[in-house]
Amino acid sequence: MGFDQQKEVDRRRTFAIISHPDAGKTTITEQLLLFGGAIRNAGTVKGKKSGNYAKSDWMDIEKQRGISVTSSVMQFDFQGKRVNILDTPGHEDFSEDTYRTLMAVDSAVMVIDSAKGIEAQTKKLFQVCRMRGIPIFTFINKLDRDGREPLDLLEELEEVLEIDSYPMNWPIGMGKGFEGLYDIYNNRIEIHRPDRFDGERFLPLNEDRELEIDHPLKEQSIFSQVMEEVELLLEAGNEFSEEKIAKGELTPVFFGSALTNFGVETFLETFLQFAPKPSEHETKDGGEVSPYDKDFSGFVFKIQANMNPAHRDRIAFVRICSGSFEKGMEVKLARESKKIKLNNSTQFMADSREIVEEAVAGDIIGLYDTGTYQIGDTLFTGKNKIEFEDLPQFTPELFMKVTAKNVMKQKSFHKGLYQLVQEGAIQLYKTYLTEDYIIGAVGQLQFEVFKHRMLNEYNTELIMEPMGTKIARWIDPSQLDEKMSSSRNILARDRFDQPLFLFENQFAMRWFADKYPEVELKTLL
Ligand code: GDP
Repeated sequence: MGFDQQKEVDRRRTFAIISHPDAGKTTITEQLLLFGGAIRNAGTVKGKKSGNYAKSDWMDIEKQRGISVTSSVMQFDFQGKRVNILDTPGHEDFSEDTYRTLMAVDSAVMVIDSAKGIEAQTKKLFQVCRMRGIPIFTFINKLDRDGREPLDLLEELEEVLEIDSYPMNWPIGMGKGFEGLYDIYNNRIEIHRPDRFDGERFLPLNEDRELEIDHPLKEQSIFSQVMEEVELLLEAGNEFSEEKIAKGELTPVFFGSALTNFGVETFLETFLQFAPKPSEHETKDGGEVSPYDKDFSGFVFKIQANMNPAHRDRIAFVRICSGSFEKGMEVKLARESKKIKLNNSTQFMADSREIVEEAVAGDIIGLYDTGTYQIGDTLFTGKNKIEFEDLPQFTPELFMKVTAKNVMKQKSFHKGLYQLVQEGAIQLYKTYLTEDYIIGAVGQLQFEVFKHRMLNEYNTELIMEPMGTKIARWIDPSQLDEKMSSSRNILARDRFDQPLFLFENQFAMRWFADKYPEVELKTLL
């Protein structure tokens, strides 16, 4: 047999990389895949210019725009660990999808452009990680270019994100004068472009942080300057604490350059030491499921239709929380207490689908879906029903009225609408009085993808009437009164039949709150 479940769980590391677009997430992902032997050549993951699209770029629209719309899963082994990287779309319009992916990981790596610092999207994604209390590791990228002062960047990180930081390494110069990194954690110097010197990549330091061997770097004033700076930094700064890292209260910070592949390997090695293995998951009834439990359990965090035009199917992505997955096993769907035989599963290196052999807690499996699953569904085996907590929904800000252009297409219109909503591609509402369909999104591009997919996958041309931005607020069904509805605060219901108002603007919402002070207005997240 040779299959030791506990050992397998303990070597899993499942994480996502979060960043603002262009910070270098794709470049660093590619480097990590190279180290793991998952790909052989740089440029495989994304070559916007060369026309080689990312392994994770599946859909037409992604290719047209050169952006990554969907999340995918990449798996490789490195130094005995089995690493699962969950890709997250960088474009801000797809943050909803990104947020959900963050529900399925055990830690996050935040990539920051050293010239730009904390950007809008980084901040939003960081907050979701914070809400989950997962460890966050920071990689400050593009040190081969002139950027901001390292100290300045750490200060901004602490102030804007309200998290303590600990520098794992410190840059020696930057841009053209980038000499290398003082690797604080391993107490050694990592030389940038060692070919300029004697070829030695790492220079060890003694206990007093002195370079004992002769090296041209020693003579450079930047070297002694940096060593003094670090001395001060370590005296005045936060203490290294594994416990605080685990709780997401302290972020270890690494500097480097993904493009020149500098500092990435050391980052990966150190990150894998401190990144958590899969842990317990909470259930709706307040219980906990251990990753070592023999019974299988997992939840659907993403559903995607027709990722590859060659395979016209839907895939439900399941994060395994306990037990092990075996092909052909029978599981129960908590929502319906229904039994399902899992004949087909695919595990991803994006377009080349490999059949899963052994998958345990921390792994992601992709299941072929013919409309069985919904976002947030729990699958389990064993006598005791397991139902994990609901995944958060995110409050949309943009709305459109939708109808099918051709009245004869009602059937496929409803089918597409229903399936894409279930996938979480878009949110759906129906007005109370007129029963119009309204779709809601976090960003404009989500509508375009929706329209494109309705046409290509469901053969339905849509008429979409923009309603602009609205403020969505949910109310308690017991306080519902249709008389409260007007053109400036449209009453609608969501797909769970919960009532909400779509307010025209802040002013309309305040007016409403003054008029009906007893009605509590709630957001999703
Ligand atoms: P993403 O949008 O976060 O996935 O960013 P990409 O990985 O696509 O990188 C955006 C741009 O920054 C590309 O042109 C990269 O070549 C460039 N880039 C990424 N990492 C570095 C780096 O370390 N140094 C420099 N100079 N450029 C980089």
